[in-house]
Amino acid sequence: MFSKVVIANRGEIALRILRACQTLGIKTVAVHSTVDRNQKHVGMADESVCIGPPSSLESYLDIPKIIAAAEVTDAEAIHPGYGFLAENADFAERVEESGFKFIGPRAETIRLMGDKVAAIKAMNDAGVPCVPGSGGPLTDDADKNRTIAQKIGYPVLIKAAAGGGGRGMRVVNTEAALNTAINTTRTEAKAAFGDGTVYMEKYLENPRHIEIQVLSDSHGHAIHLGERDCSMQRRHQKVLEEAPAPGLSEEEREKIGEVCVAACKRIAYEGAGTFEFLYDSGAFYFIEMNTRIQVEHPVTEAITGVDLIKQQLLIASGEHMQIQQSDIQLTGHAIECRINAEDSETFMPSPGTIDIFHAPGGPGVRVDSHVYDGYSVPPHYDSMIGKIIVHGEDRTTAIRRMRLALAETVVSGIKTNVALQQRILQDQGFVSGGKNIHYLEKKLIQST
Ligand code: ADP
Repeated sequence: MFSKVVIANRGEIALRILRACQTLGIKTVAVHSTVDRNQKHVGMADESVCIGPPSSLESYLDIPKIIAAAEVTDAEAIHPGYGFLAENADFAERVEESGFKFIGPRAETIRLMGDKVAAIKAMNDAGVPCVPGSGGPLTDDADKNRTIAQKIGYPVLIKAAAGGGGRGMRVVNTEAALNTAINTTRTEAKAAFGDGTVYMEKYLENPRHIEIQVLSDSHGHAIHLGERDCSMQRRHQKVLEEAPAPGLSEEEREKIGEVCVAACKRIAYEGAGTFEFLYDSGAFYFIEMNTRIQVEHPVTEAITGVDLIKQQLLIASGEHMQIQQSDIQLTGHAIECRINAEDSETFMPSPGTIDIFHAPGGPGVRVDSHVYDGYSVPPHYDSMIGKIIVHGEDRTTAIRRMRLALAETVVSGIKTNVALQQRILQDQGFVSGGKNIHYLEKKLIQST
């Protein structure tokens, strides 16, 4: 096992990684920007290195500075967390070239999955069900594009191969709008991601978002840890996640889980990963693979009892994963609410100083948060200030626990989305379960 790990992130995930390292007896190095000196994990880490000004480009995204921090502290490995450099293949490559272990899959796997066209092709070849689509990049041939769309059937979705974070997508309902939409998406993708490659998919009108968590070691042993339902979204961003997915049968879970495990073996995947699917009328359609730990990983930890970050560390150090598929038993139901520093109605970010922070507690309640009384939320980064995760013997219990946990939560001095989460937890549609990815926005628009 590693003796020292650099945590190349901030906020709640940096703290989460630090805790996993500490349980394994690994020393930690926190890297932080000037504005993040007072981050909780910085104070708790064995060492810390200031890597630059608040701007992410000059700190958390600055590859040479992070590698230099590993060099000066004599660390052995770098954990990227999520966001920032977590899915940057060049970073993974440079970390390894510099003689450190990147805690995540091989650079070539990250590169493959980062190109959505290539990823879909690889997954199709591996037997993973994908959304009917162009099967490759679109050209400038307008007639050909029309033929592809006719074959798929309208509405279709034009997507950027290099897209991410819910950006770089356009729905097309009619043939008349097709080629203009392709050109616009291409231009936007070129500007936003530096790559104008676009492809076409069937636009599924009312799907759910269901994803499968996998762990795969460097010796060809892979398992799945069931699914998460992340259908409660706003602007393609997840707001609340739960596991297991309401109404999914054991047979469906087994079947899709096995498909994902087989795909991991086929691409020699290493580490923790997530296969994201849209789920519509009983069928799964692959949309992308996330080659990192995800924000919503705790709901899986709650129902499986597996510490996913600990497993990432063990796998990266080259160990044989001890967990077998038969060890994975899903127990009860878990829900996660993301708590953001933003207005519950307008969604405007609300940075500033938190006067009082009081976290909820009690049986089955977990809070992953880096904030404390007097903590100042900087305006430079993501607005998430923490996550509340509850676990209960069934979904009804989990919902009741989450209602109580939200009611107990106190964050004063800034605005948060706690009121929005409370609305969701009280909503009869949510309580009945299994709603699609548009449900939250439709509900929000109605109620505002
Ligand atoms: P990103 O990398 O930007 O997150 P994804 O491919 O994962 O992109 O898609 C993000 C979200 O966009 C999905 O969760 C879903 O809400 C929506 N989406 C993506 N593809 C489709 C599709 N073919 N039909 C309907 N909605 C889609």
